[in-house]
Amino acid sequence: MTKNSARNPSVVVIGAGMTGILMAIKLREAGISDVTVLEKADKVGGTWRENTYPGVACDIPAHMYTYSFKGNPEWQHRFAHGDEIQAYFEKISADYGVEEQVRFNESVDACHYRGGKWYLSTSRGNELVADFVIAATGILHHPAYPDIQGLDSFQGAMFHTARWDHNVDLAGKRVGIIGTGSTAAQVISEISKTAGSLTIFQRTPQWILNTPDKDYSEREKARLRGNQGRMDKLRQRYAWLIRNTFTEAVSSGGWRHALLSWQVKRNLRKSVRDPELRAKLTPDYKVGCKRLIVSSTFYEAVQRPNVQLETAGIERICEQGVVTGDGALHDLDVLVLATGFHPFNFMRPMDLTGRDGLSIDQAWSRKVQAYRSVCVPGFPNFFLMLGPNSPVGNYSVIAMSEVQGNYVLKLIEQWRNNRLQAVEATEQAKVRFNDYMKQGMGSTAWVGGCQSWYLDADGEPALWPYSWNQWTKEMAEPDLADFHRGTPAEIVPSEPAEKAA
Ligand code: NAP
Repeated sequence: MTKNSARNPSVVVIGAGMTGILMAIKLREAGISDVTVLEKADKVGGTWRENTYPGVACDIPAHMYTYSFKGNPEWQHRFAHGDEIQAYFEKISADYGVEEQVRFNESVDACHYRGGKWYLSTSRGNELVADFVIAATGILHHPAYPDIQGLDSFQGAMFHTARWDHNVDLAGKRVGIIGTGSTAAQVISEISKTAGSLTIFQRTPQWILNTPDKDYSEREKARLRGNQGRMDKLRQRYAWLIRNTFTEAVSSGGWRHALLSWQVKRNLRKSVRDPELRAKLTPDYKVGCKRLIVSSTFYEAVQRPNVQLETAGIERICEQGVVTGDGALHDLDVLVLATGFHPFNFMRPMDLTGRDGLSIDQAWSRKVQAYRSVCVPGFPNFFLMLGPNSPVGNYSVIAMSEVQGNYVLKLIEQWRNNRLQAVEATEQAKVRFNDYMKQGMGSTAWVGGCQSWYLDADGEPALWPYSWNQWTKEMAEPDLADFHRGTPAEIVPSEPAEKAA
């Protein structure tokens, strides 16, 4: 990447979570100095700032869940706890001077493309003009509240896991939790230790892989301090392991899937002896169809004497608690909604319009799609990080953002060197890419007879359906044939640039 390129773009990065911090660092390394990061909250951290529920941790090994350029010798656990991860991002953003580029407590209300520039209006009434916008707004951050009759009539405390109310003390209380996904598994393991009673409202059972946690000793940490090479090796080793176990197993099946299936079924058999409870916990779909849950504590928690697994289905919610399909009323003091997120909202509800006044809602009216996840036709010089089809099942999103970040920088470099007048993928390229995504579906576990956020409303993949290696290979270099190559007059509206109202 040349640092003396002809044009020095102004870039606005939206969001100072894991990806926004990364992009601020990468842009500066590429010699791009005019970078502003807009962050709606008062701190960096994104998902790790927002999710503070009891038991919050990352089920990807900590030494793999780091930026490749800066390991963390201080991880305390193999599966880092949420506060450790938040501290890591805060430290990185302070050490790399990212914080100075962030405007906190300022969200983007509107973002319009006109005359080759992006015009942004913020919640503080400020206006910015930029050549490029990078939406580092995350995937799973719009809480999904269940559509259950009477939800709002409940008189006790009720909150979503991503909006945990730490003023509510659960000790000794009658607590109910709706959901049994990755989040719920972590919450249940923790709160079952102190709640007076805990009722788990399970709609669908989950396959669970037992991967024990471990605490890192002072000696182990000391060996890593100041030794990035050693941390690199550790990251690569874990990445290799995860790729060759989960990722390959869920995307291409074969013996790896057979092995994974055997492991999780054995885990259930060995961990839950009561045949009635085991039957309730046994999924009827393929292993990996829903996101595999990694937990060495969930089955133990479910079998605590104060815990009840309710599978009758929720009929409605009333003032006192939850009424299940068998007519039973479950009296509760607290109801926790571990009901997941809206995965297709991305940067919305921001008022985003691209070329010729095309709004993102129009562009996505039929389906949320992008080209190579990051480019949306009609939205020149706009990149959506971790967009549709970028997540790779049970893999580190940090590694995904790094691959996408390099790809985006290569595209910006084309603009800097005047080889692309504006970076905009063609509609045909997007269609081809999405057909390719559909073709990959058949061999994945996600079509194994379940519902999950891994599939969209048409049953098509929201994730990358091939291998990690295939993804990195295809993202290594942008294929310029897939981008508009016209002169600015052809792809940039001719009206003069004007300031956004
Ligand atoms: P999720 O996987 O979408 O699970 C939501 C749960 O709520 C499911 O059990 C679902 O049941 C249940 N549910 C939703 N609406 C319901 C309703 N109306 N009635 C009854 N049950 C209802 O959400 P999540 O657990 O928050 O996880 C989301 C994603 O976050 C994960 O897939 C993962 O990518 C990420 N995550 C990662 C980690 C990590 O350690 N790396 C930890 C937590 C989360 P059904 O299964 O029947 O739909």
